[in-house]
Amino acid sequence: MAKRALITGGAGFIGSHLSRRLMAEGMEVVAVDNLITGARRNIEELIGPQFVFEERDARDPMDWVEGPLDYVLHFASPASPPDYLKHPIFTLQTGSIATHNALELAHRKNAVFLLASTSEVYGDPESHPQKEDYWGNVNPVGPRSCYDEAKRYAEAAVMAAHRSLGMDTRIVRIFNTYGPLMRPEDGRAVTNFLTQAKAGRNVTVYGDGSQTRSFCYVSDLVEGIVRLLFSKEIMPVNLGNPNEISILKLAQMVIEHVGSKSQISFLQLPEDDPKKRRPDITRAREVLGWTPKVSLEEGLILTLDYYLSIMGK
Ligand code: UDP
Repeated sequence: MAKRALITGGAGFIGSHLSRRLMAEGMEVVAVDNLITGARRNIEELIGPQFVFEERDARDPMDWVEGPLDYVLHFASPASPPDYLKHPIFTLQTGSIATHNALELAHRKNAVFLLASTSEVYGDPESHPQKEDYWGNVNPVGPRSCYDEAKRYAEAAVMAAHRSLGMDTRIVRIFNTYGPLMRPEDGRAVTNFLTQAKAGRNVTVYGDGSQTRSFCYVSDLVEGIVRLLFSKEIMPVNLGNPNEISILKLAQMVIEHVGSKSQISFLQLPEDDPKKRRPDITRAREVLGWTPKVSLEEGLILTLDYYLSIMGK
């Protein structure tokens, strides 16, 4: 019999890619999403015998789910800074209440549970690159805390469920990821830069652009998530591309790739914006045999193609 997975946030950027991948593994997928940051267009074409979409809020109990489940994957949450800053309480509740709901469901169905966590649990890191055993440097009362602390809480909830209920759990710490199906208006660096450069508008670099990030193409990330799901690793695993780049360099690269005449304008750096970020992926390499394959150059071209296809050439 086909395995069956439920994914919260299944119409989101990563959730919808993951849904496709789980279907390609032969699974039946139930995707739950309240479409606050997810989009029906990400999953519409999937709906059929192998894929069910439920427009619901993961903060509500999941006692409506019938039939067996082999996997529960909790991906619901705003993840772009402008999104979670706009919905701070919702973000906290999705990290807490919805995590408990999803855990309860997995427990009831005796399913493997996987949490989508984030590099934001490391906050503005003092240790570089970030290894999974680094505890992080998070401002608990800063504007980003609604996301960072929600995910830290969610990790704690998962580990408690593992330790006290014996649940079979996984935690993936996702570093900056980009690719097709990301909302063009989601406000992140890659999406802003690509859409601005394409429209010939100024490309908005926050601060002086010396802060760094490490960008992973979505197909690489999804491959890592599936390997983690099928592994036995209980402790958190970083997944990201260790290729670190300054935001100014990213802006210049995007302008060049788009072939745009855009200028760069420097705007105010948001409060508590992490100064640097790069995953140490030793654990993923050793435990999952995983390394990212798609270069930033290749990934940007693929992402630009997607924006051209949805926004017109
Ligand atoms: N950023 C920027 N211009 C933008 C959007 C973002 O300079 O239009 C910066 C942001 O301040 C951060 C980095 O790019 O330093 C990555 O931001 P993003 O929102 O993509 O992800 P984050 O890593 O902050 O969650």
